[in-house]
Parts: sequence; structure tokens; C-alpha cells
Amino acid sequence: MTIRYDGKVAIVTGAGQGLGRSHALALAARGARVVINDLGGAKDGTGGSSEAAQAVVAEIEAAGGEAIANGANVAKFDEVEAMVQQAMDAWGRVDILVNNAGILRDKSFGKGSMEDFRLVLDVHLLGTVYCTKAVWDIMKAQEYGRIVVTTSSSGLYGNFGQANYGSAKMGVIGMMNTLAQEGAKYNIRINALAPTAGTRMTEGLMPEKAFELLTPETVTPAVLYLVSEDSPARTILAAGAGSYAVAKIVETEGRWLPEAEQTPEGIAAHWDEITATAGERALNAGFEQTAKMLTQAAEGLGIK
Ligand code: NAD
Repeated sequence: MTIRYDGKVAIVTGAGQGLGRSHALALAARGARVVINDLGGAKDGTGGSSEAAQAVVAEIEAAGGEAIANGANVAKFDEVEAMVQQAMDAWGRVDILVNNAGILRDKSFGKGSMEDFRLVLDVHLLGTVYCTKAVWDIMKAQEYGRIVVTTSSSGLYGNFGQANYGSAKMGVIGMMNTLAQEGAKYNIRINALAPTAGTRMTEGLMPEKAFELLTPETVTPAVLYLVSEDSPARTILAAGAGSYAVAKIVETEGRWLPEAEQTPEGIAAHWDEITATAGERALNAGFEQTAKMLTQAAEGLGIK
């Protein structure tokens, strides 16, 4: 069975090059009409040009597909709203949103400025929030929506010099976890991509051979799956060099401590049990943690 997107309208942010371009070309090749958004600035977010987005539109049109260019800065809500309106005016719906636009301002935390930290949050986290907010009511009314947020191993696991970027990339996971719940009854599914790819963002940071293996085209199938009709929801799909895996936040079973041991010394004494991995699992909602703790407390206190 071939997965296609005929009749679907997609918005891909930061689609002028790198991963976004690859996602957009593949969506168009499989029948989607695509808004190619790109601010066209440098890797650190400075400057801007419409050339890259227009070149991708030309490439899609040359292959017989349909696309429109858009130069909105995803960090500006009014520009994002105008972008979504452009899609609605052209095609009357938005089915797929791939939040991909991003910049880097790498510096160790001690040396980094608060301006850089705020800018990285503005583009990655608020940019994702703005784009998602601008399509949310449309998708609710259609009772159909597929949204991808782009996270990173830097957010999930940490990376030296990327406190700003890691904060933003974990922030989008927090948004996804809640919106997966709020969107479920409207058939809106939201998932996260954790890519690793050779692009201008990673150029010079890895050996040439690795750069050649980590093509954006090896990541894009993960996005295509996450925005398909039968997509999962609330899943973090890692992809790179043709390898695919799911990342999860897990919690240990832990243990309840009697009142006399509800002290830092009690926690230290039971640290091995608290951190034991047997029985650890991913929780599906915040209240599951509360329920687990109350169950343990009730058992410990002998409450029926
Ligand atoms: P890239 O620099 O090649 O592409 C990013 C694109 O986003 C650029 O074309 C840029 O012009 C655009 N952009 C930047 N700020 C924008 C804004 N405010 N509004 C609209 N467009 C804007 O980088 P990439 O490697 O293709 O990264 C794509 C996404 O994947 C980013 O979110 C990045 O953080 C994430 N990511 C990449 C890697 C990797 O290994 N390349 C790893 C983890 C996560």
C-alpha cells in the first residue's frame, strides 16, 4: 500500500533547504499541495531572502506538483496567521503542519547571552506554538489534522553549548504531550521528529563520511509516516542515516516510604530501589503519576 496525500494541504516551515526542503519535496511528490515557508536567513537567524523558498516551489512545479512560497518569520504570530490565510485562500484547508524552521546560537551557558537564549526560544518553541495555534481551529473544524514538531537529541539528552536550543526542543515535547490529548477527539494527531542529518546546521561538526550517510532524505520517511492518515500520536520518532527508533520519557516504579523515612536520608538509603529500572514505564498523562503515587501510599498506609 502506497501512502499518499492527494487532496491534502501541507505547510512545511523552514522548507527552503535542509530537512524542510526534503520533507516538502516528498509530500508534493506524493500528491500534497504544499506551502513552502522560509525566512531565508543565515544559520544564526540573521538576514532573510525569499530565494530559497521560491527555488523549492519551482522544483515542485517542474515535477508536476503544486506549491506556494511564503516568507513568514515563524517567530512572529501575525506573519504566521497571514501564512495560514494564504494557504486557506489558495486551497481552502490545512491538513498537515510540519514545524521544522530553526536556527542555532550555540554557546556554553556561562558565555551565552539572554538575547540569544530568547531568540532561540522564539524561533523553535514559540514559532512551533504560533504555527500550531494558527492551524488548530481549522483542523478542529475539519476534524482532521496531522502535526509534527521537530525536537532534537540535544533537548532529549543534552548537548554541550546548546542550553538554549535544548530548552526549546524539550519545550515542543511538552506542548505535544498536552495537544495530543486535546486534539484526539477532533482526529488531530501530533507527533515529534528527532532527526539527525547533514545540513548547513551540522556542517563541519561531523566527519565527511557521516555527513554523506546522514542525508535529509533518510529522515523524511519518518515525517511522511507521522503525517499519514494512519499515523501514531504523541510519539517521538528518531531518524537518521536510514535508522528509525522511538524515544520515550520513562519513570521508575519507585517506592513509597513510611513517614519517618520521608527525609533526604530516607531517600538516600532507598536510592537503589527508587532508581531501579525493573517496572519502569512511559506514562500517558500527568495524572497517571499522581495515581501511581497514591496507589503506593494507600498500600503503604493500609488504606483500602
Ligand atoms: P537548516 O538550517 O538547513 O534549515 C532550517 C531552515 O529554517 C532554513 O532554511 C532557515 O532559513 C529556516 N528558518 C530559520 N528561522 C526561521 C524563521 N524564523 N522563520 C521561517 N524559517 C526560518 O537546518 P536543518 O538541519 O534542516 O534543521 C531543520 C530542523 O531540524 C530544525 O528545527 C533543527 O533544529 C532540527 N534538527 C536538525 C538536526 C540536524 O542534525 N540537522 C538535528 C536535530 C534537530
